[in-house]
Amino acid sequence: MEKCKARIDSIYNGSAVDGKGLRCVVFFTGCNMRCGFCHNPETWTEKGREVTLEEVVAKIKRYKSYIKNGGVTLSGGEPFLQAEFCIELIKALRGENISVIIETNGLIANRELIEICDGVRLDIKNQDREVDGRVYKFLDICETLDKAVTMTNVLVPTLNDTVDRLDTLKKIKNTYSCIKELKFLAFRKLCESKYERLNMPFPYQKYEEGSKADLDKAYAYMNA
Ligand code: SF4
Repeated sequence: MEKCKARIDSIYNGSAVDGKGLRCVVFFTGCNMRCGFCHNPETWTEKGREVTLEEVVAKIKRYKSYIKNGGVTLSGGEPFLQAEFCIELIKALRGENISVIIETNGLIANRELIEICDGVRLDIKNQDREVDGRVYKFLDICETLDKAVTMTNVLVPTLNDTVDRLDTLKKIKNTYSCIKELKFLAFRKLCESKYERLNMPFPYQKYEEGSKADLDKAYAYMNA
């Protein structure tokens, strides 16, 4: 059988912001969205590196003691575009007692992958658009499987910190009991240099960065 392969941008060890504890993050290349605030635009255009399952597992195993209170996060890009590889990777890491969560935009509702992972971080994209209908199908599956979902949302001042956008999030959170947590993330422009390097315009250049006060305000509204 042909070896299980994927295209990845990188593997980062030591993230404290992609789930609980210290985590090893696998950034897959390829994405089916083009978010104006994206921090990883290189995953849209660059082919990345082809890796085998064995290679990725071996690399993660080297960090095993370091991530013992955290785990692995599959991110990107959009990991669900390479679902078959993700499923095999999760199976292999489970054999090593390493838990794996997935960060996704929720447009590809692959039931097998949702079922096998240890949790989902679903980033709701509602900055300059309505929430895509496919996200609700994704959440329906999470609900059926009782898969723990952390809902994240990048708050961009004046774009989606408005009452109507927050009300949509409130409705989603109240509809799905599988959503255990909601995390707002402040819009940042740290990725600007990446766009310059790629010779691409940074779509959200004109927006202000978000502040802690913006996040506090949004949490207060959600909890009211
Ligand atoms: S879904 Fe994620 S990786 Fe894809 S464009 Fe949006 S922020 Fe970037």
